[in-house]
Amino acid sequence: MTKNIYDQKVEEFMAKIKAKNPGEQEFHQAVHEVAESLIPFIEENPQYKEAKVLERIAEPERIIIFRVPWQDDKGNIQVNRGFRIEMNSAIGPYKGGLRFHPTVNLGILKFLAFEQVFKNSLTTLPLGGGKGGSDFDPKGKSDNEVMHFCQSFMTELYRHIGPNTDVPAGDIGVGGREIGYLFGQYKRLKNEFTGVLTGKAPNWGGSLIRPEATGYGATYMAEEMMKTKGDSFKGKTVAVSGSGNVAQFATQKVTELGGKVVTLSDSSGFIYDPNGIDKEKLDYVMYLKNIKRGRIKEYAEKYGVEYIEGERPWSVNCDVALPSATQNEINEEEAKTLVGNGCFVVSEGANMPCTPEAMHIFQENRVLYGPGKAANAGGVAVSGLEMTQNSMRLPWNRNEVDERLHRIMKSIHETCVKFGKRDDGTIDYVKGSNIGGFVKVADSMIAQGTV
Ligand code: NDP
Repeated sequence: MTKNIYDQKVEEFMAKIKAKNPGEQEFHQAVHEVAESLIPFIEENPQYKEAKVLERIAEPERIIIFRVPWQDDKGNIQVNRGFRIEMNSAIGPYKGGLRFHPTVNLGILKFLAFEQVFKNSLTTLPLGGGKGGSDFDPKGKSDNEVMHFCQSFMTELYRHIGPNTDVPAGDIGVGGREIGYLFGQYKRLKNEFTGVLTGKAPNWGGSLIRPEATGYGATYMAEEMMKTKGDSFKGKTVAVSGSGNVAQFATQKVTELGGKVVTLSDSSGFIYDPNGIDKEKLDYVMYLKNIKRGRIKEYAEKYGVEYIEGERPWSVNCDVALPSATQNEINEEEAKTLVGNGCFVVSEGANMPCTPEAMHIFQENRVLYGPGKAANAGGVAVSGLEMTQNSMRLPWNRNEVDERLHRIMKSIHETCVKFGKRDDGTIDYVKGSNIGGFVKVADSMIAQGTV
């Protein structure tokens, strides 16, 4: 079959997805990218076609939408909307983060839940896929307001989740503080202490290395990709976007491996520090973002470096880019600029940070491009390890968890190589991760009948 016939089949499939899920652009984008890899594979493996696996995998098993009323510090009643997308439970309980951000809507959470199914399968752990969150904006809210919101959110969500059913974690706007308030309310409502959420603090059931896991994992993935060219982080200049959980720990691991991180950003702009963000400066970023909850601009003021308002960091010279903020944060022009400036590795700490056009630029130029569902799977992998430790009621030490994380990232890389080798010997990590993630879920769905 020629490529054109595949393209036509992708378009036909997408037309149905768009008709059924109108206006959900990010969901369409995520499904399209996967369908491009999977439809040729499914044509060659008719068991998946007959069982309509792709059609079923793109339809959530269940969606829960609910009202979240809460009272702010001035005594005013506020109303937000809560969501949980239970996407696929073929290989384990639903698993995926909660996002609190004003842009949250059904389409964004469906894209994230869809990606999560493949990502979780790649980790080798028994984890289904889900995602949830709210249009609540934690920015500028007091701890008390965040707590009241989290308690109200959990007062509905607790009916739908459980350690063997659905195990949420953090994402944008949901860190250790929020997980604590959510867990406290769940425990109070159910009167049981179980591993119903991951990202907990180590004192009350959390895993060591969970906060570090996504950033470390994206860095390990970049390292594995570079190894295929006999290269490493030693002496490399690295552009990181974001300054939250993923960006902070990616910066830490890159520095440990001998690279130099020169940028960080937030939604207001980015800082450029050509001397590199060393340990002392990173400690300051962690204080600034996790405790003071300030803006990245303050880094530039403190260290006397450049701050570029309203821009993203992709114009700087770098060898490696680790986009670690949000979806669609690298567009076609920015991808061209990165390639033109010598960037040869992109490992996605964030979910879907590249537009489809940007992704194609990287693929055409044979950039070592690790898509989020492979590159940022370290977070959910250690969440899976947190669930294991909760079930055993035994904690592992830092080394044990980090070694397991490292092994999982290497195995994800191997899966991508297995399913993504191009005729010219290079690796298409997009195809590799899509097919590699799909096969286990698809075979399990077929084995479980038409469910
Ligand atoms: P955080 O909330 O800790 O940090 C998010 C960072 O991204 C902040 O610096 C924030 O800036 C910036 N950001 C958020 N939205 C936008 C936007 N619309 N435009 C520009 N910048 C933005 O989140 P995480 O670090 O946890 O998550 C970052 C990415 O990694 C997300 O795509 C998430 O889905 C993905 N991810 C996270 C995992 C985890 O374990 N935490 C696991 C796998 C993927 P500001 O403060 O100004 O909003």
